[in-house]
Amino acid sequence: MKLSAKMEKALNEQLNLEIASAYVYLGMAAHFEHTPFSGFAKWLEVQHGEELGHAQRFFKYLAERGGKIKLAAIPEPKCEYKSALEVFQLSLAHEQKVSAAICGIWELSAAEKDFATQSFLKWFLDEQVEEEKNVGDLVAKLEMVGDNRNGLFQLDHHAGKRAAGKS
Ligand code: MG
Repeated sequence: MKLSAKMEKALNEQLNLEIASAYVYLGMAAHFEHTPFSGFAKWLEVQHGEELGHAQRFFKYLAERGGKIKLAAIPEPKCEYKSALEVFQLSLAHEQKVSAAICGIWELSAAEKDFATQSFLKWFLDEQVEEEKNVGDLVAKLEMVGDNRNGLFQLDHHAGKRAAGKS
């Protein structure tokens, strides 16, 4: 069950994208560190950690399948944003991009009849549904509260309760 060269490349690209995602979220957390919204900062820090966990799964899977791990450069993330809404709208767009990338590898695994990779990717497909739902809900709530400070602080408080690995 040797990985094809194409699959090895796709998995390495995804490993890089997951690390880049972690860095994007860390930049967003940094932005909130300069605001009174410590809850959003915490939420994004947790998200940063989760993305590193995703990267680790690809790293280990590549190793398990005898693939060559190739680490690439990570783009510099943005650390300043206009509003909480902008941050989470961009998070949602980012997660949609990640979902599309996972689906792309799934398609490749189907074409190559690489069933082990399909099995490995199943967890990520489910995870992406959850990611998009969580961020999408937050965007919807932020759109609703607009510039209302009470609403924003309530959402911030709720976001801060996020525990690692949950919601
Ligand atoms: Mg991820």
